Amino acid sequence: MKKSTQSHGELKSQIDIYLQKNHPEICRHWFDEIEPTGIDGGVLNLLVTEPVRRQYLQRTCLSPFTEAAQAVTGRLLAVRFVGEENTNNQTSIDGAPSSGTPNDLEEQLVLSPDYTFETFVVGPGNRLAHAAAVAVSANLGGAYNPLFVHGGVGLGKTHVLQAVCQIVLRQKPTTRIGYLSCQSFSEIFMACVKSGRMQDFRHRFRNLDVLVIDDIHFLSKREQSQEEFFHTFNTLYQAGKQIILSSDASPNDIPDLEERLVSRFNCGLVARVDRPCYETRVAILKSKANLINLNVPDDVLAYIAARIDSNIRELEGALTKVRGYAMANGLAICLDVAKAAIADDRLVFGRSNQPTIQMIIDAVTVYYDIKLSDLMSKRRHKSVALPRQVCMWLARKHTRYSLEEIGGYFGGRDHTTVLHAVRTIGVRREADPDISKAVDRIEGSFVQTTPVV
Ligand code: ADP
Ligand code: MG
Repeated sequence: MKKSTQSHGELKSQIDIYLQKNHPEICRHWFDEIEPTGIDGGVLNLLVTEPVRRQYLQRTCLSPFTEAAQAVTGRLLAVRFVGEENTNNQTSIDGAPSSGTPNDLEEQLVLSPDYTFETFVVGPGNRLAHAAAVAVSANLGGAYNPLFVHGGVGLGKTHVLQAVCQIVLRQKPTTRIGYLSCQSFSEIFMACVKSGRMQDFRHRFRNLDVLVIDDIHFLSKREQSQEEFFHTFNTLYQAGKQIILSSDASPNDIPDLEERLVSRFNCGLVARVDRPCYETRVAILKSKANLINLNVPDDVLAYIAARIDSNIRELEGALTKVRGYAMANGLAICLDVAKAAIADDRLVFGRSNQPTIQMIIDAVTVYYDIKLSDLMSKRRHKSVALPRQVCMWLARKHTRYSLEEIGGYFGGRDHTTVLHAVRTIGVRREADPDISKAVDRIEGSFVQTTPVV
C-alpha cells in the first residue's frame, strides 16, 4: 500500500479515507475540491483555490492532513495548502486585509468555511438578521450602518457575521475587512497603549472598509476601550465604512456601556436572533449533516430536533455524538442508534440523573399552566415573571449551563437577570412557604421522571 507511485487521484482518495476514519470531525463535503499538485522537496502541495478555505485548512487542519499524508505514503512528508496563483507565500489571507502585517493575521479571527449564507438556515427567529446581513453585504456602508445583531448563545450571530465577511471577500477580494472579537480589539488596543503605538492602532482600524466585531458586549466596563472604540466607530462611520457588531444583549441592555455608544449602536439596524422553531431546527440539522457528508434519516433529525431546542451548538453536538456512536459501533445511523448515542452520552458523563432544561421547562409550564412562548417572551407580568425565575433557579441548580447560557435560553436575557432570578427565588423560598412548596413540587415532578440509563 505504501507506494511511491501513487497517482494524485489515488493519493487524494487514500487521504480522504484516512481522514474519514481517523478525523471525521474535520471532514467537509468541499474537501472534494482539494487537489494534490505534487510532492516538492518533501512537501505535499494541496491545491485549494478558495482563499477562506485555504486559510482555514492551513490554520486548523494541518496536523491531521500531515498525519494522513504520512500514513498513506509511508514517507515523512510535510503538507502545504497552496493557491493557484502563488505557491510560495501560502499563509497569506488572500483577500483579507491586504495591507496587513503578519501580526494582523495572528489577531484576526479565522473565518470558518462552514459559516456562509449557503449553510445558514433562515427561519422566523433569524429572518430579520439574515435579510439585513444580506442587504449589508450587497451594499457596504449603504444599507444599514451599523448592523447590530444580538441574541442568546449559539443562535447564529457569529455565523451571520462571518457569512457577510465571506461573501464580501468573494465579491471583492481586496476589501479590507477587520474581523475580530471584542476581546482582541481591547487587547490590541491595550498593547498599543502600553507600547506607545497608538498611531499604528489608529492607522490599522481607521483605514478599514468593514469593521466586524463579535461579542461587542465585552466592551462593558472597559472604559478606555470604549472611548477608543467610539472614535474608531465615528471615523469609519463618517467615511461611509460598514460596521457590523454582535452582542448577547441589545444596545440598551448592555450593562455599563457609555450612553453615546448605545446611541451609535442604535442608529443603524438592530436585529435580534431568537431561538429556532422546530422546523428550523430540523433544517439546520440537515444543513449540518450535509456539510459533513453525513446521511441522516429524517426520523433521526426529527428526534434530535425535538429533544434539543436550547441552542444550535448543542443541536450540532448531538449530531456529532450520533455519528461518533454509529462509527464506534459499526452501525448505520438510525433512530435506535440516535437514542442510544444520546443516552450513552449521559452515561459517559455520569449525568444519568441530570434533568435537562427541557424537563425543567415542561414541569414549570405544566405547574403554572403557562405557555412556553410566555416563558421565552419579554413579558414581565407577575404571572410569567415568577415561573420564569423559577425556571432559571432550577436550571442553575440542576444543569451545568452558565448564567449567560440560561439567560440566552430564556429570550436573550443577560446573565445579571439570571443571577437576580436565582437570588430572588433563593430568598423567597426561605421567606414564603407557598413558593417553597411550589418549587419542591415542580422539582419532584421532573427529578422522579428522569430516566435512569
Ligand atoms: P452565537 O455566535 O450566536 O453564539 P454561532 O454563530 O456560533 O452562535 O452558532 C452556533 C452554531 O450553530 C454554529 O455552528 C452555527 O453554524 C450554527 N447555526 C446557528 N444558526 C444557524 C442557522 N440558522 N443555520 C445553520 N446553522 C446555524
Ligand atoms: Mg458567537
